[in-house]
Order: sequence, then structure tokens, then C-alpha cells
Amino acid sequence: MKHLQNVALKNYCTFRIGGVARDIFFPENAQELAELVLRHRAENTAFWIHGGGANTLFPDGEILLPVISTSEMTACIRDGGTVRAEAGKNMDVWVLECLREGLGGIECLSGIPGTLGGALFMNAGAYGHEISDHLVSVTILTLDGRVIDLPKEECGFGYRQAVALRDAVILGAAWSLPQSDPGPLLAKRREILAKRREKQPLEFPSAGSVFKRPPGAYASQLIDQAGLKGLRVGGAQVSEKHAGFIVNVDNATCRDVLELVEICRRTVRERFGHELELEQCLCPFYPDHK
Ligand SMILES: Cc1cc2nc3c(=O)[nH]c(=O)nc-3n(C[C@H](O)[C@H](O)[C@H](O)COP(=O)(O)OP(=O)(O)OC[C@H]3O[C@@H](n4cnc5c(N)ncnc54)[C@H](O)[C@@H]3O)c2cc1C
Repeated sequence: MKHLQNVALKNYCTFRIGGVARDIFFPENAQELAELVLRHRAENTAFWIHGGGANTLFPDGEILLPVISTSEMTACIRDGGTVRAEAGKNMDVWVLECLREGLGGIECLSGIPGTLGGALFMNAGAYGHEISDHLVSVTILTLDGRVIDLPKEECGFGYRQAVALRDAVILGAAWSLPQSDPGPLLAKRREILAKRREKQPLEFPSAGSVFKRPPGAYASQLIDQAGLKGLRVGGAQVSEKHAGFIVNVDNATCRDVLELVEICRRTVRERFGHELELEQCLCPFYPDHK
């Protein structure tokens, strides 16, 4: 399998931030991914599973944690309304291919960057729909090395989380999608993409919404009302267009983003009493997590 060394991770994430990874592996199928993970576990070496890097903040400096990318695992099979796809399949490409075949229920997920594996791990969603909506099961490698199909009901899906998938490696998944006419599905997709272009600062690198929605409020509104829109630390800025995004306006570092995150959390806590929880995933420097 492809194995690269000393790789600049800023080229592997939508934030365009990150130091140099000592090792990055590219398994080509679920079996290779499973074997690689089991080998690292047998050696008691921690690792980072990397999807599209659309929700990841990589640290600055040297990253000693081996990175395992799913980007070569993109197989997808459709049979009637049943769709099976590997974890590394690009989610938006998957959505478009399904809609063109008249497979719907996922049109509101149009335009979300990243892979299906990352989307399942995060239970990604938009406009009232989530990747788990028409899901049948997720194929995972368990902590004890078994490959199992976990039915949707056992994945523990909630708002931007899947509790039972936290310690699992996602190999692929199956959905059962309602069949209809492609025309209206593709029209809905165009409408969603236009809304996203209108509301999101897509002209700058980012990793999407920084914080989860706190109960009964919107993180972006709280940050805006706290007067933090446009605030800048180094090359990172609270987006002028959408205060829920931190954007990389000028070679931002991980440290810049984390400092800005801390200012937002502290100010919103002091002003409104809301505790903002990070939605983005922080990849650690060192192999100190299992
Ligand atoms: C411009 C923009 C807009 C966005 N809009 C939305 C939106 O509308 N809704 C939304 O929900 N999100 C949105 N996001 C965030 C992001 O697109 C999603 O969270 C996406 O699902 C992340 O997928 P990924 O493959 O890039 O995950 P990554 O960033 O690569 O990984 C995220 C987490 O998942 C884990 N992971 C990835 N693959 C696997 C696997 N196979 N097995 C186990 N763990 C895995 C990683 O270790 C990490 O902890 C947006 C991001 C951007 C940049």
C-alpha cells in the first residue's frame, strides 16, 4: 500500500493548517485498513484515522502519530435502493451519484465536504437531515479486532455524534434510499448548494462550524452578539460572513485557531452563560492516546 513520509498535513485538510506527519498510510480496501489498524494495535501504537480532513485541526510542528488515510477506499455499489460504500468515498460525490440515479432522502446533505467515514463518525447533517437518516448499518472494526455490521439503532447517533462509533474504525456502511425522479432531487441539490454559497465563507479555508449548537441557542448568534465577528488572532479570523466559522485568512497556525477558540468560549460563557463545545476534532501530536 502507498506509504508517504514527512508529509505536510496542511495539504490534506480543508483548513490548510498543520505540521508535518512522519508517516501516512493509504490502505486500498477495508481488509488492508483492518490489517494496518490491527498491526498498530498489536505494537501498542496509537494512530489517527483520516477521512477528508474537513473537520480536523492538525497541530503545528512534527506529528509523530501515524496517520491512516481512507482516501483510497472509495468503492460504492448500488442495487435498487440499497447502497453500500466504503468509508473513504467522498460524501458529496456519493450524494450526487445517488441523486442522478433517483435515490433520494440525502439531497439536503449536498455540499458537505469530507468522506462518508468522517460523516458517520460525526453524524454530519444539514437542513434537518443527517447521514444516519436512511442508514441500515455501519461496518466497523471493533477495539478487539472483529469486523461487524452494527445496525443503525446500535450506533448511538445523536447531534453531531455517534457514541458507539467513537472507538471503532469505520470500514463502510449501507443505506436504503427512497427511489424517485432524479429531476426534483437534483433541483433541490442546486437550491441547497446556492444556500450554502450564500451563507458560508467558502472563499476561505475552514473546517466548517467550529462549535456545536448549545441547547436552545446558536453558537454563531452568540459569537456575533458578543461582538467577536471579524476578530483575528494571527492568520485566523472569526468569519465576517458567518460567526460560527473560523477561517484561515493568512497562513494561520493551529495555535492561532485554538487561541481564537478560547476567546470565543470565554466571552460567550461570561456574557451569556453558554458553554460552547468544540465540533472540530483535534488531532494530537504524540502517540499518547489509544
Ligand atoms: C466549508 C465546510 C462546510 C461544512 N458544513 C458542514 C455541514 O453542513 N454539516 C456538517 O455536519 N459538517 C459540516 N462540515 C464539517 C465536515 O464537512 C464534516 O464533519 C465531515 O463529515 C467530516 O468528514 P471528514 O471525512 O473530512 O472527516 P475528518 O475531518 O477526516 O475526520 C473527522 C473525525 O472522524 C474520524 N474519522 C474519519 N474517518 C473515519 C473512519 N473511517 N473511521 C473512524 N473514524 C474516522 C477522524 O479520526 C476524526 O476524529 C463542513 C466543513 C467545511 C469545511
